[in-house]
Amino acid sequence: MSSSQTFFQEILSTLEIANRHLKLPTAVYERLRVPRRSLIVSVPVQMDDGSVNYYTGYRVQYDFARGPAKGGIRYHPKVNHDEITALAALMTWKCGVVDIPFGGAKGGVACDPTIMSKGEIERLTRRFTYELGLIIGPESDIPAPDVYTDEQVMAWMMDTYSMMKGYSVPGVVTGKPICLGGSLGRNKATSSGLVTTVLEALKHLGMRIDGLTVTVLGFGKVGFHAAKILQDLGAKIIGVSDSKGAIYNPQGLDIDAVAAHKAKADTVQGFKDAENLTNEELLTIEVDVLIPAALEGQINLTNVNRIKTKILAEGANNPVTLEADEVLKANGVFLLPGILANAGGVVVSYFEWVQDLQRFFWNENEIDARLTTIMTKAFKEVLDIAQEKKVDMRTAATVLGVKRVADAVITRGLYP
Ligand code: NAD
Repeated sequence: MSSSQTFFQEILSTLEIANRHLKLPTAVYERLRVPRRSLIVSVPVQMDDGSVNYYTGYRVQYDFARGPAKGGIRYHPKVNHDEITALAALMTWKCGVVDIPFGGAKGGVACDPTIMSKGEIERLTRRFTYELGLIIGPESDIPAPDVYTDEQVMAWMMDTYSMMKGYSVPGVVTGKPICLGGSLGRNKATSSGLVTTVLEALKHLGMRIDGLTVTVLGFGKVGFHAAKILQDLGAKIIGVSDSKGAIYNPQGLDIDAVAAHKAKADTVQGFKDAENLTNEELLTIEVDVLIPAALEGQINLTNVNRIKTKILAEGANNPVTLEADEVLKANGVFLLPGILANAGGVVVSYFEWVQDLQRFFWNENEIDARLTTIMTKAFKEVLDIAQEKKVDMRTAATVLGVKRVADAVITRGLYP
């Protein structure tokens, strides 16, 4: 990230801006500036050639005043304590924004799963879960998938934790396969929720979905489903990208065909009905909606001035640096901040956890309807704060999320 601040320092700056409006008691504000608990572990993994590699793993429980800590597990070479702490803080505010009874956490291992075999990833996951066994659990902290982890990784985590307990504990992770107590609708939940907020933003701005032009950075779990749902609703997805590059077709891409191509070629590039572009070139294409759905800090001072979009919907967590945020604001871009726009995943994770604890499962219509209700309410609450306090949407969402966490911290009081 090209910002002069680390990722976590940026989160603290956003918190400081929100607190100008919240004016929290000093002791509570100071409490919210530090994570409750961080665990750093060394994870030995036997590689396929017989050697042993040591990976560093992290789990940060930022706050759990409102309920068990909740947050994804990321496998990526750049994972570090600062990043995981920042993402854990964002999860905490996010659960507050959508008003679900969770605190926030995040975890990850610094590794490159793209060059590891399935067996190596399984052994890494099982040993990492064992090391986290001290602090995770359905009542304390519930992991979920994030970048380069998926439902298979969650299945291994659930199995390892269950082996440690001696009985099946489906509620220890969410984003599991359906056959292990996963929830219908979870795989597309983040994207469905994001689309709900985009539709609300369109209403607010007097824009229509028919023919809406969209580009999506990152064609993974969040990016693919967002592109697909928007296309099904009548939008034109004119460009998508992944870690290897981008593709562009001003007439619109067939998202299922792009996914089929990526499954074979391991990249969106080379798709027959599109022109190859670099990721930076894709960013400069004029669109109605830009959805960054890859990693944080991708929109920064080096490229923000070339962005021409009316709406920027953050599928990723903080894909825009604070400095770039200011430029977008000055350019009149309507921002849907990640703690609102990508909260659908944790909302359906909450549904999954409730279903696991009750051993009673809901149908997909029920899940979709409840998700839409929560996301629509959250959008309206954030917009109301933005209009009432005359602040941008990121500040408004942070005010809402932090206020709900602070209310719980204040009401619980200080122990002992
Ligand atoms: P994923 O691993 O499924 O997909 C990530 C995608 O980003 C891949 O297509 C990868 O090729 C691409 N990518 C990586 N580096 C890139 C680069 N430099 N430029 C362009 N593309 C690049 O991960 P995901 O679960 O879709 O998560 C994406 C983002 O959404 C992350 O920031 C994550 O924290 C956030 N998020 C995910 C969820 C969820 O439910 N999965 C929920 C909320 C937020």
